[in-house]
Amino acid sequence: MVHFVGAGPGATDLITIRGQRLLQEADVIIYAGSLVNPELLEFAQNKCEIYNSALLSLEEVIDIMKKADQKKQDVVRLHTGDPSIYGAIREQMDELDKLGIVYDDTPGVSSFCGAAAALNLEYTLPGVSQSVIITRMEGRTKVPEKESVEALSSHEATMVFFLSAGDVEGLCTRLIASGRQPDTPCALVYKASWQDEKKFVSTLEKLPEIAKEQGINKTALIIVGDVVSTGNYEKSKLYDKDFETLFRGKK
Ligand code: SAH
Repeated sequence: MVHFVGAGPGATDLITIRGQRLLQEADVIIYAGSLVNPELLEFAQNKCEIYNSALLSLEEVIDIMKKADQKKQDVVRLHTGDPSIYGAIREQMDELDKLGIVYDDTPGVSSFCGAAAALNLEYTLPGVSQSVIITRMEGRTKVPEKESVEALSSHEATMVFFLSAGDVEGLCTRLIASGRQPDTPCALVYKASWQDEKKFVSTLEKLPEIAKEQGINKTALIIVGDVVSTGNYEKSKLYDKDFETLFRGKK
């Protein structure tokens, strides 16, 4: 059987208990070497075969899974963060379906949650934004026209940009050109939860300079929106003493 597992954003104690158990029990581990913390591989048994998928094609990954499955071995396919976000798992699952190989998926802490934790940030402040747009700028992978930076930014909701740290300047320029104020708060979080994590809170106008100075062009998220630095939000109804919830009557 094949287990897709979310490794979490980096820190080895941010994998789930289930994910750790699957790593400990695996006969074969295929990990995304470009982003998964290699220290997680220390959970593997000595006899476990370990492959770095950064060096493999889709066909080679599937071939390793197929051979292991024929020997009734358990395979962990370890993806960074949560596998459902830019994880390219669908194409692997489709191939496994064709081969009749059974698989399951264990979620992980996505880096956008790791980055919020690094900043002690709440993405959904009442009266500021109640939505989080997870997106990216196009690169080699195209982004549908309706989901362009310009189209999505018109909502002024909190935005989290994955896979876009290579062109922070281009991103901020497009956001400003599309109508966001140059002083809109934003943050750059590099390697959230890793030992060498770096985080910067700034504005759309000034963030590109920081990215350049710090030499940050990958493994980073750009978070945009007033939630990053506002003190001007409404208290949530959840803890409001005049508001009755399922668990607590009005005081
Ligand atoms: N599935 C992953 C995302 C994979 S796409 C997740 O849920 O987090 C790879 C992109 O994720 C990187 O280019 C970067 O934008 C972001 N990323 C992954 N790990 C990160 C981390 N620890 N800190 C900041 N950004 C990270």
